[in-house]
Amino acid sequence: MTFKTLDDMNLRGKVVLTRVDVNVPVEDGRVTDTTRIDRIVPTIRDLRAAGARTVLLAHFGRPKGKVVPDMSLRQIVPALSEGLGVEVGFADGDYGDAVGRMQDGDVLLFENVRFNPGEEADDEGFARRLASVGDIYCNDAFSAAHRAHATTHALARLLPSCAGRSMEAELTALEAALGTPKPPVAAVVGGAKVSTKLDLLSNLVTRVQHLIIGGGMANTFLAAQGIEVRKSLCEHDLLDTARQIAAKAETAGCAILLPRDVVVAAEFRADPPTRTVKVEDVPEGHMILDAGPDSVAHIRTVLDGCATLVWNGPLGAFEMTPFDAATTAAARHAAALTRSGDLISVAGGGDTVAALRHAGVVDDFTYISTAGGAFLEWMEGKTLPGVAALSQ
Ligand code: ADP
Ligand code: MG
Repeated sequence: MTFKTLDDMNLRGKVVLTRVDVNVPVEDGRVTDTTRIDRIVPTIRDLRAAGARTVLLAHFGRPKGKVVPDMSLRQIVPALSEGLGVEVGFADGDYGDAVGRMQDGDVLLFENVRFNPGEEADDEGFARRLASVGDIYCNDAFSAAHRAHATTHALARLLPSCAGRSMEAELTALEAALGTPKPPVAAVVGGAKVSTKLDLLSNLVTRVQHLIIGGGMANTFLAAQGIEVRKSLCEHDLLDTARQIAAKAETAGCAILLPRDVVVAAEFRADPPTRTVKVEDVPEGHMILDAGPDSVAHIRTVLDGCATLVWNGPLGAFEMTPFDAATTAAARHAAALTRSGDLISVAGGGDTVAALRHAGVVDDFTYISTAGGAFLEWMEGKTLPGVAALSQ
């Protein structure tokens, strides 16, 4: 994967149309979480330092091609200005005029690109109108790269294009984890259901040497081996699918690791009475809510022998104690191996990020992707249109 970065572009005095993801949560007109704004700070800082005129292109909510005043990006301008440390201008009408008034180092935000039906249609005409006011296209929104929209895809073909700093970091980390990783590679895949992660599992078995399956989806694999999972979350209609994935793994030389022991309870709530049992011994009326200590020890041993780890999905119902134990223990072990330089660790997924944050390891992993859908599609081995457009 080759793509240009800000370092390859001559930026001084140039209007740089920069696609960002500032789809931040807003309550009563106030931005309640600035994570997405914080992530674009390095790109805007470097653009300004190089004397570029930065035009931010972004979506907000799902207005479906119509002007929806509640979804105006104007409301995030104060938070954006504060986060970026510069007075951000706003343009919702005559873009050419607003851009014409810009000085080197200025930052201007255009109105929600999804107010225009051309955005989600990947419309060439809409992209051309945007391109006519800019000199360079920069994409810093990996989290929107799985969509072929005008500002993530069509526009990249019309102007000299490059990746912003956060896109660059994301692509470099993902490449190190699954593109050309240092072997042996382990994948941890957990979460609730097999059905949401079929493509992901199918892709991973051909890419990694160890596939560690946990969470609710492990129950389906256990049931496929004839194990009684009782009241556990389990997709009984997918037992054949689970067997097919296991067979594909065997052919590809990928070892699948399932829980050996599990923590079970009769009720789905925090701190119920629990028992730790072998997977063959789940009692009547009980459900599996976490992997047990033997399973965790096994996971640690596998990770000790690996050079690269890619992780999506918690190993148990981590939102409720004590079912966070396996996820937290495995995450802390991966974090320690990463700190000592023995492991490259990349993780992503909405609940996964929450679980790793809960385990206190967010700063110790090599890279944690907050990209959600784009991260999952990348783990499924799909080509992301926004990334492909940059790579040309
Ligand atoms: P991500 O958002 O990181 O892709 P998922 O959405 O696939 O992860 O899965 C996370 C969910 O899986 C969590 O809500 C967690 O409670 C649930 N989960 C994990 N293990 C179990 C289990 N044994 N039984 C029921 N739910 C589980
Ligand atoms: Mg989730």
